[in-house]
Order: sequence, then structure tokens, then C-alpha cells
Amino acid sequence: MAILMYSASSVGSFFTALNDFKLNGMMMRYSRFIPRLYNYCLGIGMVPGKIMPSRAFCSDESQGFPIILIAKQFGTFPFNHGLVGGVVATDRHGPHSSHGEDMVIIQASHVGYDPESRKFGIYRRLQTEDCRHSSNCGKVMGILLWYQEEYEFASRNIILEPSGDTRRISINNLLLRTGRAEGLFLDLERIIAWDDRGNPRLVRSLSTARTFEAAPEFISRVGKCWPREGEDPVPIGKLLTPDLFRFKRDLVADTESQGHLEQNLIDPMPWIVTHPEPALAAAQINTQVEFDRTYRSILMEKGYLGRKLLFIAGLNIDISPRLEQIFPLTKFIPWAAYVQAADGSHFILEQEQVFHALANSDSTNPNEIDLETAIDEMEKAKEITISFDFTETIN
Ligand SMILES: [Zn+2]
Repeated sequence: MAILMYSASSVGSFFTALNDFKLNGMMMRYSRFIPRLYNYCLGIGMVPGKIMPSRAFCSDESQGFPIILIAKQFGTFPFNHGLVGGVVATDRHGPHSSHGEDMVIIQASHVGYDPESRKFGIYRRLQTEDCRHSSNCGKVMGILLWYQEEYEFASRNIILEPSGDTRRISINNLLLRTGRAEGLFLDLERIIAWDDRGNPRLVRSLSTARTFEAAPEFISRVGKCWPREGEDPVPIGKLLTPDLFRFKRDLVADTESQGHLEQNLIDPMPWIVTHPEPALAAAQINTQVEFDRTYRSILMEKGYLGRKLLFIAGLNIDISPRLEQIFPLTKFIPWAAYVQAADGSHFILEQEQVFHALANSDSTNPNEIDLETAIDEMEKAKEITISFDFTETIN
């Protein structure tokens, strides 16, 4: 019988990564974050009026308020580095670098938050007929769905059976098929017992499942939750922890970069689907992966050579707007920042360092622009006539 085994080299690392992304005490509202960021940029030598900010946000309209604040504080509309889900379009570094002197890139994955239910992953869409809530980030949560269903199936179809001294576990045959191109794959070495010759201790074959003796370590982990003799068998449920399985899926890259986003999430996916707030966990992981990947791409970008540059990555928490609000109260939780001086020297600020660097920067910005006045001035500006008379050029 072919049994899938895999090295659990990454086991624990995603748990650690998620845990290291602190949420409590690291949050600041956008209306404070952006002026502080602007002042931090001046503090590292950037010149007012010569900074070209860029944002790598999801296409969701909930990201609009942060963009407006960037425009107000930096005095220019930010360049767009963002792909859906908060992936950074690293192939746009070149154009970005030619649009300004000093460079700022803000990456954020986002997640909705409903203050009434205190749940992450949902957001009120005021422009729908009944102002209903929908998923946020919808793209990320759309990706999660398939994995959540696979996990649901496994957690219902691995059964802990009451037995005497030996504990037995029945596993649906689908989950034992190693040749599948896609699906949830169990780390059977840690779940079932093996004999000295490396064969699984198979007890019996049923029509749609097989029953094995359970691995001693797994038995002790389940402890008193294992049903006693005379009790009904119970599905493994939440006892199917992320170190006991992984996912495999054929990923196709598409123009909207779903493939890229899904690639970022597939290895840590066991930790995401078992997390109490999967949409939040997915956004955190995506930010961590994107910071690491983008920072490396910045180092390789010729256009950024000899430039002052700041790249900051974090999490946008879109607090669902109340009925009378126009914009969400978006909050930002920084993850890390990369700071580069014109002479090429650079350093990384880890989460607490970024937070303190921002917290210690002034949250008032004398250079902020008044958007209403700016729009008003444009209204009053003398009309420019555009000529479409190409006849001479064409002939
Ligand atoms: Zn989104």
C-alpha cells in the first residue's frame, strides 16, 4: 500500500511567522499613520515636493480612503504598484522610479472587520441596495474557500474509534490516495502506527475507508477526547491540527495574479484554515511574503539605484463603515520597512522598530494639501484647448 509521507521541515515556521506578526499595540489609524510616515521620510532626508509615493493595495474600493490620505499628505496622487489581494507589481518599479526623485512604496494586504460582531473578513457595502455585508478581502476569501472545504471533508472523514487498549483511527480512502494531483494530504507518519518494516498497522479495510492503529504520539495528544469503549466514534474535527497535513493544488497564473496570491498562501494554508480568523491570518501571511519578495526585487532594480527609498509593508484593517459614514475607519498595522539612502546603504526595520519609528514621528504635517481647495482651483483654472488638428502631421 502506497502511503504518502513528507518532510515536515516547514512545520512550525508558519505558526512562528503568524505569531511574530503582532497585532495588539501595533495599530494606528490611517489619518495618523500617513502624516507620521511623511514626516519620517523627511527625517531620512527626503525632500518635500520631490517624493513619489506608491501604493500596492488591492483593487477593493475599501482601499480608497488610505489612497486619498496618501494624496493629501504627500501632495500628489500615489503611483499604483498594486495587484488584487495586495500583491506588489514588481515589474512597475522602473516606471515608478522615473516619476519622482525620492521613492516611497506602501504595501498592505487588507481584511474587513465588523465592530458589531467583532468578526474579521466582512465589510458593509454601502452602495448595494440593502447595504449588505460581503467578504473582505473578497479575493483572498475566494481562494480560501476550496481549502476550507477540503479541510472540512478531512475533519469529518477521519474517525477516532472506541476500542480496547489499542486506539484505532479510520481514514476515508480518498485521503489515502497518494496519486491525486490536488487535495489535502495527511502526514500519516504522525497519525497512524507503523511496524518495524515500515508498513502501516492496518486493522481492516472497509468499503470507503481503512482502519489503522493510531500512532502513540497522536494518541497521547488526543488524550481524553478519544471515545471510550461503548461510546460512539467521533470525527477528528479540530484535532486535525496544521502540522498533520498539507495541501497540493495545480495553480494557474492569471492576469489578475490569483495564481501568485494563491502561491503565497498555499504552504501556510493549514495554519490559515485552522486559524480562528482565516481572512486575517491570510492577510498577515501575504504581507510577510510580499515584503520579503519585494524587498529583494527593489535591491535588483536599476531605477532605484542611488535613490532615497522607503518601502513599508503592513496590514490594512477596514473597519466596516456605519450607515452614515462615507469612508471606513481604516487602521494600519506595520510589519516591516526597508530604508535606503542615496549612497546605497540600507537597513531593515522589524515590526516593533517600524512602529516606534512611526509613533515617534510627528502626526501633523505642515505640507499637507487641502484637497477641496486643490479641486476648487482646478475648477477655476483657465480652460486649455486641446488641438486635434493632425492633418499637417499626417500629410
Ligand atoms: Zn481585496
